[in-house]
Amino acid sequence: MTCEELLKALNEYVDGTLDLTEAECQQFAEHLAGCHPCQVVVDNIRRTIRLYKEGEPYPLPPEFERRLHSALKRQWEEKFGKAT
Ligand SMILES: [Zn+2]
Repeated sequence: MTCEELLKALNEYVDGTLDLTEAECQQFAEHLAGCHPCQVVVDNIRRTIRLYKEGEPYPLPPEFERRLHSALKRQWEEKFGKAT
């Protein structure tokens, strides 16, 4: 397996258009074991996937945080009345 083949398959796998067979996983692992550039790429992808799949804490965009805050404030006011 070449670097190009590995990266192409990896992209398809991440997009969800490719399922890896056990034999392919084996080829991946063998290539990765001896190829540092590909290890770096896979590490980055893994980190990215983890971020959005497991919802690990990361800074929210300020606009989102602002909206969330005002939505919570509104709910609070509907329930308990405006703070005086
Ligand atoms: Zn490689």
